[in-house]
Amino acid sequence: MERYSRQMRVAGVGPEGQRRLLASRALIVGCGALGTHAATALVRAGVGEVELVDRDIVEWSNLQRQILFTEADARDAVPKAVAAAAHLRSANADCRVTAHVADCNVEFLAHLASEPTVVLDGTDNFATRYVLNDWCARHAVPWIYAGAVGTEGAAMVLRPGGPCLRCLWPEPPRQADVGNCETAGILAPAIAAVVAFQVAEAMKVMLGADTTRGVFTCDVWRGQYGVLPVASAPAEDCVVCRGRAFPALVGERPGAVTLCGRDAVQIDVPRGASVDLDAIAARLTGIAVDVVRTAHLLRFKADGCRFSVFPDGRTLVFGVHDPLRARALFDRWVGVA
Ligand SMILES: [Zn+2]
Repeated sequence: MERYSRQMRVAGVGPEGQRRLLASRALIVGCGALGTHAATALVRAGVGEVELVDRDIVEWSNLQRQILFTEADARDAVPKAVAAAAHLRSANADCRVTAHVADCNVEFLAHLASEPTVVLDGTDNFATRYVLNDWCARHAVPWIYAGAVGTEGAAMVLRPGGPCLRCLWPEPPRQADVGNCETAGILAPAIAAVVAFQVAEAMKVMLGADTTRGVFTCDVWRGQYGVLPVASAPAEDCVVCRGRAFPALVGERPGAVTLCGRDAVQIDVPRGASVDLDAIAARLTGIAVDVVRTAHLLRFKADGCRFSVFPDGRTLVFGVHDPLRARALFDRWVGVA
């Protein structure tokens, strides 16, 4: 316990609190900037079990802010969850760290060995966040939303019984309407600020302490930090909190199919998905390469791959074999929920 001596001196932790942390289990969804910061803090704090799930590989453009990764990880294109777990184990061998190279979808969550004490959102897309929201509500697991773009960030604790994410936003925002790190950039301190809130709240969940109510927001460039109030009761018309329906858990996202002999993967999207090729083209102009909008499709190049997006959202990603990698690139650049 010596290594936790300074933490145990904090009022609200103590030896009993430390034992609670050691007996807790955290699931971290996404091992990007948010996930690597959060995992580092939780493993060093002595959380007994940390499960990491991420479907992507380490790239050079990650190293600026994804603090667990090294140049060797980027050079060898190591899966993020695997690289993160290896570095974390060298920081605290007593913590059981499990790495899953997978999409955090309904099927993945259904096969978790046991329910986590708390779930930390380190994703970069709302489709996954709504799956987490609905799954956590159904299983009465607290989860902590976090997101950061540019110099700004936001985070919020979502406790069983509500309010949940759908109480605030009944449907996922269109990916094209929210900025992401590819288009708006990201400053590392914005990540650190958001994760500071997220990890402190996760520790409070594991310690059985009261969590902060409201949405933490920050802009590290303007030097603004605060907590916006939210209603204490679930929204009257929330399908999850009031109706006990879980829309994101039914109707699994259509799959990604590797196209034989073409070095390409086809990503399917749900029927009726709203796809505005002009809006996507406008968003990518100046960021992706060779953005061309024809009468029938949108073409562009990004991350060393070529993309063809059709009006129904179906997308071909050329230059990739792995369906998980293709899905990650699709969410990053096209982002039809
Ligand atoms: Zn709700």
